[in-house]
Amino acid sequence: MKKITDLLQDSVVLGDGGYLIELERRGYVDSGSGREQVGTGKGSRQFTPEVAIENPDALRQLHHEFLSAGSQVLQALTFFGTREKLNRAGYGEHTEAINEQAVRIAKEAAGGRALVAGSVSRTQLIEREGMGALPAARDHLAEQIRLLKEAGVDFLVLETFFHLAEMKAGLEGAAAAGLPAIATMSFRPLITECTDGHSPADCARAMADLGAIAVGANCEQEPDRMLPLLREMRTAVNIPIAAQPAAFRTTDDCHCFTRQPAFPDELETIQVSRREFFDFGKLAWAEGIRYAGGCCGCNPAYIHALARGLAEAHAELA
Ligand SMILES: [Zn+2]
Repeated sequence: MKKITDLLQDSVVLGDGGYLIELERRGYVDSGSGREQVGTGKGSRQFTPEVAIENPDALRQLHHEFLSAGSQVLQALTFFGTREKLNRAGYGEHTEAINEQAVRIAKEAAGGRALVAGSVSRTQLIEREGMGALPAARDHLAEQIRLLKEAGVDFLVLETFFHLAEMKAGLEGAAAAGLPAIATMSFRPLITECTDGHSPADCARAMADLGAIAVGANCEQEPDRMLPLLREMRTAVNIPIAAQPAAFRTTDDCHCFTRQPAFPDELETIQVSRREFFDFGKLAWAEGIRYAGGCCGCNPAYIHALARGLAEAHAELA
């Protein structure tokens, strides 16, 4: 396999989709909605990745499905895999095992036909305790990045960060570990600024300055809603743009699906069709997007549609 930095120069790299929502729908991940408000950080199992050790065959199967849909990168299911988040879900003592096992499963599934990325996301400490918790968040991110490097990931995807300050801590951890990193922020409730008040353009510049090999956005918006912020990032930097939109319909006054009333138990009612991902694939190259995948709600059928859109655009160019 070529390195990710080389693939990004060649064409649009096809990523994979969202694991936790899909595995939740298949009955292997708990949204926590039955116990309390999701996202409060109390209680157990809130979209955390213990499926890697509890139902490894389910995770392996989903990797295989993304691979056969055309994914050139498989993300190890290490999202929300910091010790901080896993502690909140009652799995802190399994931090090493969950991260190691998730990478091993992804590498076995890839079988040399796809690269394997370690997924690193926010700790949720900043939302809960404020910016004073940044040093602790930095330590937790560094620990997970060390585990992912030891497990042998090819590169990192730093994703679904709400605060640029925490993303910067993650990028510094990636650089210290010597791992290339794609960096994507999640914008909510609107696409105009991240939670600590930086525009998409400012986020893109800051992430590029810290060495990200591609910058962009993931989660929260469907492709059509995400495009304007991606364009803003593209005008701000000269490095590849990465986009992994969600597959849920948002509204003009709330650009994020996790604050729609349908989250998490009625997401089926706001699901966008795979056609939107086909269309997204068709315009990715022209929009300067060089890494395209999906996030929540984006199952292998969506990645297949995205692949067809990319292929069709490529054929028209040739
Ligand atoms: Zn997502």
